[in-house]
Amino acid sequence: MSITVVGSVAYDSIETPAGRRERCLGGAATYFSLAASFFTDVRVIAVVGEDFGRKQETVFAARNIDTRGIEHTAGKSFFWEGSYLENINEAKTRSTELNVFASFEPKIPDAYRDSEFLFLANIDPILQRRVRDAMPNVKLVAGDTMNYWIKDHRPALLEVLKGLDVLLINDTEARMLAGNNNLVQAARGVMALGPRALVVKHGEYGATLFYSSPSKNRGDELRTFRAPALPLKEVVDPTGAGDSFAGGFFGYLASQPEQTPTAWRHAMFYGSVMGSYACERFGTERLQQISRAEIDARFNVFRELTHLD
Ligand code: AMP
Repeated sequence: MSITVVGSVAYDSIETPAGRRERCLGGAATYFSLAASFFTDVRVIAVVGEDFGRKQETVFAARNIDTRGIEHTAGKSFFWEGSYLENINEAKTRSTELNVFASFEPKIPDAYRDSEFLFLANIDPILQRRVRDAMPNVKLVAGDTMNYWIKDHRPALLEVLKGLDVLLINDTEARMLAGNNNLVQAARGVMALGPRALVVKHGEYGATLFYSSPSKNRGDELRTFRAPALPLKEVVDPTGAGDSFAGGFFGYLASQPEQTPTAWRHAMFYGSVMGSYACERFGTERLQQISRAEIDARFNVFRELTHLD
């Protein structure tokens, strides 16, 4: 099985209580693909500028991620600057420079066309929609977005939501998208816009899966499953935790022969495992070091964290 992902590949400048890093490799598609690559084959669609070099290429190559869909063009790569000084669970954006993404026309390499899974990582919803439309035969489509697009690009985002099976967003975004502060009501509101499942990420408090399941007498019933986050000694940098969660979640699902309710629950835990690793160092540093054996060992720590008897 393989996943095709479209999203930002970027340089990030990040400030957290643990320190500051300038222009480290980031981007939603970068974190997603690194995390998912531990579970399945990953193919990336993005665009980068002349400032993206061999050192950054190597990060993808070391995880066998297919980068034939990353277009290199004149100009500067996407740049994002964020701070977690006020709230470690939510980035405050200081600056977003779309740069080469402003005029990006995604092209899907022929070699990507047999992907059965598609992930629309955080990027302009117009680009997400184009890639979704160009891959009509995928089996499962998941996606992410953020306040920036919810606030100012809503009509385009609503078009994307119609084509999604699963949406992964944080709780502030879910409430904002639905215009409702109650999480369950917000989940119903968001699911009415298209996705049949919704994963709401709560930062250090874990994540909740909402999905509808046919019930005998009452039509579709909203079901809920919650995975915790691992209490960490120190959160060095939460950037990319959400995308890494998505990579672990969707990567695990893609690696399973069937997407049963049990597989979805396990996927929630693998998502939490990958999110926890992302926070342990700045940028992608930690994701570049870990092994599948460490991931499975941490999965067992999560089992213990939640096991009752
Ligand atoms: P998260 O998992 O939510 O912490 O995602 C952080 C990543 O999202 C960073 O590496 C940024 O480069 C990227 N990012 C921030 N703003 C945007 C945006 N407007 N569109 C796409 N990607 C973004």
